[in-house]
Amino acid sequence: MKQIKHHLNDGLLMGYASGNLPEAFSLVVATHISLCDECRARLESFDAIGGVLIDEDAAVEMTATALEATFERIAEIPAVPKTVAPPKTAVLPKPLQDYVGGDLDKVSWRNLGGGVKQVVLKTSSQATVRLLKIPAGAAMPDHGHNGTELTLVLKGAFRDDDGRFGRGDIEIADEDLHHTPIAEDGEDCICLAATDAPLRFRRLIARIAQPFMGI
Ligand code: ZN
Ligand code: ZN
Repeated sequence: MKQIKHHLNDGLLMGYASGNLPEAFSLVVATHISLCDECRARLESFDAIGGVLIDEDAAVEMTATALEATFERIAEIPAVPKTVAPPKTAVLPKPLQDYVGGDLDKVSWRNLGGGVKQVVLKTSSQATVRLLKIPAGAAMPDHGHNGTELTLVLKGAFRDDDGRFGRGDIEIADEDLHHTPIAEDGEDCICLAATDAPLRFRRLIARIAQPFMGI
């Protein structure tokens, strides 16, 4: 996908390569990578660096028996079951379909008010990830962030002070960013959003609703 303009940063790619991200963030990273050749190539270079480091360590202690034991362990690893790749027309990429149990038609949306819908996906408790559907032309409540928020667009597009985000684009927001994402006219915007801390809403009404929305 050539039109992706907003990508993952090195910190997220390294965290993902080393398995150190909360599950919710890993899912957003994996979903972006499934749509983005550029970040997939960058991830492979991080994986290669990690592999070289492991090889150098192993070279020192590798003995004939260790090698044999390694081959035995490899033989014990069960074959990875073959999964059927979703059709090209799918809105939800494969990593996300594994969480939802299928494409968009399998999502059980819950109303948040103002036409906004969400579904929180089940992950470990360090961070939260949800699918959000924002009606065309509607704005999300104006908010700041206590931690990191990753927002990956899957359908439609939104805009804020940092630019336009379309399918495959990821916005990385932190304490320094205060924004009011607005969905573009013409098409509802569906995105995958992960947070590791509650958002900071400026308007009282949004703050009151916050515990009910789980944002
Ligand atoms: Zn990318
Ligand atoms: Zn935000």
